[in-house]
Amino acid sequence: MHVWENSPDAGPQPLQNLEQWEQFLVQRYPEPPQVPELHDSSHEPERQQKSAVQFRDYRAQVRPGVKEFYRLNHANQTIEFVLSRKRRFLGLNRTRMTVWEAMEFLNTLVDDSDPDTDLTQIEHLMQTAEAIRRDGHPRWFVLTGLIHDLGKILCLWGEPQWAVVGDTFPVGCAYSDKVVFPEFFPNNPDFQIPAYQTSCGIYEDGCGLDKVHMSWGHDEYLCHVVKDYLPPESLYVIRYHSFYAAHRDGAYRHLLNDLDRQMMPWVRKFNPYDLYSKGESRPDVPRLSGFYQDLINEYFPQSLKW
Ligand code: FE
Ligand code: FE
Repeated sequence: MHVWENSPDAGPQPLQNLEQWEQFLVQRYPEPPQVPELHDSSHEPERQQKSAVQFRDYRAQVRPGVKEFYRLNHANQTIEFVLSRKRRFLGLNRTRMTVWEAMEFLNTLVDDSDPDTDLTQIEHLMQTAEAIRRDGHPRWFVLTGLIHDLGKILCLWGEPQWAVVGDTFPVGCAYSDKVVFPEFFPNNPDFQIPAYQTSCGIYEDGCGLDKVHMSWGHDEYLCHVVKDYLPPESLYVIRYHSFYAAHRDGAYRHLLNDLDRQMMPWVRKFNPYDLYSKGESRPDVPRLSGFYQDLINEYFPQSLKW
């Protein structure tokens, strides 16, 4: 067990660093998504099969720290916890910072990363953005890559790892077995509440994800910080990029509406840049700073409320 140096109140932290969660995602999803668009269900059986293979594999490969991290995440992400975090953080009354300052702040996260081989947080962000830029995508999509993980600064405010990273999932309705390690959900107090364990739970069929409370983490928080400045596609990617059960495994379709079906392909398009750009060469941060400062200034005012 490792105590996160920046989070003295967060208790023992099972991951040595946040990268371990993302490394596990790459093990679990070794290939870019070959998922058809949501309105096309013709490849459904194929996808089911692939999930079954992944289901077997990830258990064999998982590090004990990562498994413990998911155990804590699944046991503690109750609807009450999610609402408490929304009250705590979505007022955005902690500080004011520019996007660039937030990147530098995130970089102060002290964990057990190896400085010689592991990327800094800024390097991961730039690497993701650069990979998107290289493929000629629109500027808002490049910017989305640059900022998508800034919500991880929650760690610097004492939040435990299981409340900052990890695959997200809806709370207040039945858990899908497509969520990683579903066997940990019976430890969640919400599991005992029958109203939360029907397939729609407290929601309505087809209500749309905007009406659904997701497990709390860096996605939802950052989406609120930037919500007035970016196009809807960008906000959608930021908000759901960790919702692997939906964007990789097609779960929770009954909660989606037309807007979700229209937007989800962007999350799928984004995901490979997030997961698979890490093997590429280290970005030259000083050289790229000018380009990215300009891009930030194109969309954001001088300072934002965090
Ligand atoms: Fe992320
Ligand atoms: Fe990321």
